Amino acid sequence: ALDLRDVRKGYATPQGRLEVLRGVSLTLARGESLALTGESGSGKSTLLHLAGGLDTPDGGEIRVAGQATSRLDDGGRAALRRDRVGLVFQQFNLAPSLDVAENLAFQARLSRREDPAWTAELARRLGIADLLSRWPEQLSGGQQQRVAIGRALAARPALILADEPTGALDEAAADAALALLLELTAEAGGALLMVTHSPRLAARLDRRLHLHAGGLAEPPAAEPAPGAVRS
Ligand code: ATP
Ligand code: MG
Repeated sequence: ALDLRDVRKGYATPQGRLEVLRGVSLTLARGESLALTGESGSGKSTLLHLAGGLDTPDGGEIRVAGQATSRLDDGGRAALRRDRVGLVFQQFNLAPSLDVAENLAFQARLSRREDPAWTAELARRLGIADLLSRWPEQLSGGQQQRVAIGRALAARPALILADEPTGALDEAAADAALALLLELTAEAGGALLMVTHSPRLAARLDRRLHLHAGGLAEPPAAEPAPGAVRS
């Protein structure tokens, strides 16, 4: 579902050029789930943005569902986001002028994959069926997060990219939302790449990778000391 080959990305900053990804490679098969961990600022969101066609790499190759996407123009990347990718952003990014039902259905409609029965089932299983006529500003953070998860899945995308999708939820709600995200991703037939700070949540996915110093590696074996508080 996703292939990255030697992907590089940096940003111009007032302090000079910041090289964030220095040759990142990974393969995510259809139906697979991968947890991406890494310190704040290590480039996790940057990697997701490149995979989802929100930005272009400085070098390397990206393929999504077999399509080479690294050098698409703006229109090509818009089509990629619409037709193949479901994104759950760190800040949800719900459309403020659309109610919950419209937020859920919007992308699926644009990609002509509208499936009202599936959207209704998503809403029910995410526990937001009673909120369909509300505006995003009338929702709690956790409710917005669940709408964002539903929206990402509504068009049954090949690739689901989720950036801390349970960050606004308490531990029990995060566990439940992740279980649902994994279940619904499997039913939608997609692969899941999820950023999380939580080793506890990362452990529930098929694979784990850790982003550090611009490259991917196995996550550190971080067994907390007895009595240590884990975030
Ligand atoms: P967090 O866990 O805090 O969300 P992250 O791993 O997602 O962090 P990124 O958002 O990918 O980190 O950012 C990686 C680095 O690139 C950071 O140092 C950030 O300041 C920098 N950065 C990100 N976007 C830009 C941009 N548009 N312009 C300049 N620098 C940027
Ligand atoms: Mg981030």
